[in-house]
Parts: sequence; structure tokens; C-alpha cells
Amino acid sequence: MEAAAPKSIPKSVRVRFAPSPTGPLHVGSVRTALFNWLFARKYGGTFVLRIEDTDKERSKKEFEKGILEGLAWMGIDWDEGPEPLGTHGELPLDGGVGAFGPYRQSERTALYKNYLTRLLEEGHAYYCYCTKEDIEAQRQAMLAAGLPPKYSGHCRTLTAPPPGKDPQTIRFKVPETKVEFNDLVRGKVSFDAALFGDIIIAKDLDNPLYNFAVVVDDALMKITHVIRAEDHLSNTPKQILMGRALGFPEPAYAHIPLILNPDRSKMSKRFSDTALLNYRERGYVPEAMMNFLALLGWHPKGDREMLSKDELIAEFDIGRVQQSGAVFNEEKLDWLNREHLKTMPLDEVARGTAAFLAQRNIVAANEHLLERAVAVQRSRAKTERDLADAVAFFFALPEYGAELLVWKDRSTLNEVAEVLGRAARALEKIPAERFDLEALAAILPEIVGEHERGIVLWPLRVALSGLAASPDPVEIMSVLGRDESLRRIAGAIRKASAGK
Ligand code: GLU
Repeated sequence: MEAAAPKSIPKSVRVRFAPSPTGPLHVGSVRTALFNWLFARKYGGTFVLRIEDTDKERSKKEFEKGILEGLAWMGIDWDEGPEPLGTHGELPLDGGVGAFGPYRQSERTALYKNYLTRLLEEGHAYYCYCTKEDIEAQRQAMLAAGLPPKYSGHCRTLTAPPPGKDPQTIRFKVPETKVEFNDLVRGKVSFDAALFGDIIIAKDLDNPLYNFAVVVDDALMKITHVIRAEDHLSNTPKQILMGRALGFPEPAYAHIPLILNPDRSKMSKRFSDTALLNYRERGYVPEAMMNFLALLGWHPKGDREMLSKDELIAEFDIGRVQQSGAVFNEEKLDWLNREHLKTMPLDEVARGTAAFLAQRNIVAANEHLLERAVAVQRSRAKTERDLADAVAFFFALPEYGAELLVWKDRSTLNEVAEVLGRAARALEKIPAERFDLEALAAILPEIVGEHERGIVLWPLRVALSGLAASPDPVEIMSVLGRDESLRRIAGAIRKASAGK
């Protein structure tokens, strides 16, 4: 199969993301949302969010909330909705959500009923009286006869309800025809609808099933492009046939490849977190997540991998989406996260880091201190959570024992007290407003004196950070400032003198 060259894209692109709120928002769903959103944003189109909650038992409000929260975190905003956002208690949400609440299929049952009635009246659908047991018996009989199992069509030609039986479902009369469509990713796809049998499209007039509700919604919402994961490919011919029976225009389809584990099995929790919001919890930034998910099954021309949101929008091309599965490689996510952490606006990284500090009960109220600390540490961190760990000592000096002040057993605590005292006297000469990298570097020779560097710089670094591993003492002091640096050094001298 050859991918079709995307034909000219209409001006009024309308796409949708149609998640079912039956579990935590999956990264694969977010990738689907993202491809739709990038497509809409690229062509100045409309991105619609439609919550597919027809399955009353499995759909939960908490999962819908998770969808809205996840999209808001990613900055994937939607353009339309039946009412202002918040009507159903969705606010407050972080990030750039639209002004509207999402469409919900549970609020549109009257519409589906209309179209179900039409299909029944026009002979495209019929009530089926077969019970589960009847259907199982039919299936067994077909298997015994060596036929591929499908609904037998038992109720298709009934002219009156069978006596004593209640309708069980509504079925669509699937015409025995070949269905072909030109998928924007997969090229020409064709199915033999004769193999489907008549499919169930509703339990009754008030309870439509997914395959039917989607057809009505995509038509009424004037969706021009259905971009969704490949596991929906076999639904497409059924939806096309129902659309034709209702005289709806046919949208273009793009089935995007599945996301795979590193061993190329379908992505599962065994290898990676599948819930989007777990990545937020772990300290990944939405910029990196968006970049990473965009590259699952698509890549821009050339070999650039790090792209901002605006670059993704500019570069996105549905015609470049690959057919083969896309491996979810967390190492690549880690790399992208590091790269985005380095280049994002400092105040944004600082804000994100503050949230993780708060989880450790550290209030980073001093914004300047936080930004300086983040600036020093951000190139070393993989996530904002790591970054919070790495800057925590600037806000709260960890407890440490006096022995940590001694470098490789090469000196005594007395000597530590002495070299730190000398350092303090040298540092006191720098005025607070000039306590910067340059001035500190210039005074370093005076601080080190005749000693081997480690003899002085190790205890100085420990005095300032309380840690065995931390940045260069000059960097730390430039962040802490004069008073706090001298206070910490004085504390270390007391520790060394007391021997504990
Ligand atoms: N509600 C479906 C799902 O969550 C998606 C429907 C569609 O994109 O057509 O898998």
C-alpha cells in the first residue's frame, strides 16, 4: 500500500479528538489528540473535543476530568463546545484550555435517536430479537459448518416481532459490498463488508453504541478529517456504510500507527507508564512530552528532533506519518526533556520546579534565589523533579556530620576550621552587591592559598551545600549571596570546631 499524497487541504479543516472516559488518559490517546490538534492549527482549522461516554457503566466523570486536565497540561486547546467551560465543574484547570466545555455524547442522545429512527424507517436498520444464547448458538452452528462466524441475519427479514420475544438490539443492514477508501497514511484500503454481518448499532433508541454515535457526530460536527489510531481501521468501513445510508458526506481518514513497547509488542504498562499525568508527576515538561509524542509515527523533513510547539505546528505534515508502529522510547523522552529544560524560559522552569519543592515542604518564596538556583542546576537535570532535588539545598541546608567536611582523610577538623575561617575573611571583603561569579573567581586564589585545592574547596562546598556532591562552591555562593554563604561557612566552622 502506498500512502496517498495529501490532496489539497480544504480551508475549513475540522477535526476532533474523541476519547472515551473509561480510564486514565493514555499517552497514545494524547498522541492522537496532538496529531489532530497540530493538523488543525497548521491549517487554521477547528479542533473539537468530544467525550464519548455512551458506555454508561465504564464512563466516569473522574476520567473525563483527567482528559481535560491532561489536555490543559499539554497546552492542547479546543475551539468549540456546547457551553462555557466550567458548567460541569471542570474549572480550574492549568494551561491553555479553550473557553468551552467539551461535547459529550451522553448529552446528545436525542440526536442519535432521530437518526436511528430514520435508519429503521428507511429499512437500513432493524430490531433484532436474538438473545445472547441465540447468537451463541448461531455462532457455533457457523463454526461447525466451517464458516467464519458473523451474525446470521436471522431478524433481518422479519415482517413482525416474533411472538413472546422482546427486541434486544438494533442492527444495521450491512450491504454485502466492497468498501474502499483512501487513507492519508495507509493509502488505498479496502474491506469486504460481506464478512461483517449486520452489526449492532444500538441497544435501543436511547442507547446507541460507539460505531453509530460516531457517524452521526462526525457528520453533524462537519468533521473533514478523521485522524485516529490504527486500531480503529476496521471500524471505518462500517462507519462509511452507515454514513452513506444516512446520506452524509464522507470525511477523509488518516489512521496513525500504533505505539509499541521496545520489544515491538503493543504499548503496555509493563514497559512504560501509559497514563499521561504520571509523566507530569515524574517531572517531565509538557513541551518535551509534546515534542516526544509528535515524533511517535511522524518526523519532520531533515533530522531535527527537538522542536518547539510552534515549530511542530509549522512542520506537521499528515502525509509524512509512517505506517509502521512507533516505538515508545523513554530514553528519547529523557533526552528531549533535558534539552527543553535547558532552553525553556527560566521563569517557567522555576515555576515548575517550585511545585516539586512544595511537595517536599520547601517553600521557594524567594523568586530570585529560585531562578538563580535553577539557572545553575538546570543543565544537569533530567526532570523538574530532579531539578527540585538539585536545588533543594539552596533553600534548606541539609543536616550533615562534621566528618563530611574532611577531604579524603587528607586533613583534620582543626585544619578545616582554619581554612574555612580564612575563606570567610577573604569573602567578607566582597560587598554584597558584588558577590558574583566574577568577584568570587577572582578571590579564589586568596582563599586556596598554599593549600592543595581539594583541602579548601571540598570543605567549602560541603559547608555551602551540606552535600557530598554539589556544584562548584563559586557557583553556589553566587546563588546564595554574601550573607547566606557566610552564615553557612560560619556554621561549618562551628561544626568542625565542635567535632560534630
Ligand atoms: N472513542 C474512541 C476511543 O476512545 C475513539 C473514536 C474515534 O476516534 O473515532 O477509542
